[in-house]
Amino acid sequence: MDLVIASNNKHKISEIKDVIDNSINLISLSEAGIREDIPENENTIEGNALAKAKYVHEKTGSNVFADDTGLEVEALNGAPGVHSARYAGPGRNSDDNIERLLDELKDKENRKARFRTVVALIYNNREYFFEGTIGGRIITSKRGKAGFGYDPVFIPDNEELTFAEMPPEKKHIISHRAIAVNKLKAFLNKLV
Ligand code: IMP
Repeated sequence: MDLVIASNNKHKISEIKDVIDNSINLISLSEAGIREDIPENENTIEGNALAKAKYVHEKTGSNVFADDTGLEVEALNGAPGVHSARYAGPGRNSDDNIERLLDELKDKENRKARFRTVVALIYNNREYFFEGTIGGRIITSKRGKAGFGYDPVFIPDNEELTFAEMPPEKKHIISHRAIAVNKLKAFLNKLV
């Protein structure tokens, strides 16, 4: 089965490839002929995931899935959430986003947070959603060099290392994205 993955993020693609096995042939956006950035203008994680999948489906007609992820921090009422990529403002990077997050949390005792991924699949013109979450906490300064985004300040529940300190193979097994993509995989494996 061929399936387009609506992402250009090499970290995400590597995480997803570690979960999906060879029964599904993952096609990258560039292999599907899409070079531009896909707009992400919706107000929810579900909305963005579906918008990305629809964008590619409308251009290629292919079966496609997209994932969208947000970091939801309890003491910040779920922020940055759907705005995780641009928390520090347009054109800013992950270091800037982390700096803003640590600043917003500097007086807060409650450091609980979770990553939430939603995968939207368009398969034979029908839409399906798969969700994965992982709880944890935000530490007060960055630790580790692996991964991407908020990984250096997030320690999952029952772990001592941040996502950026643990070996990528481990993050790729336990992450929010792995949980959502495993659900996608179980669904697809029933079809093939
Ligand atoms: P996206 O829209 O799914 O690409 O994710 C939005 C933002 O959330 C990204 O720009 C990252 O800052 C952050 N993010 C997504 N997934 C992860 C992850 O696995 N670890 C850390 N940060 C992530």
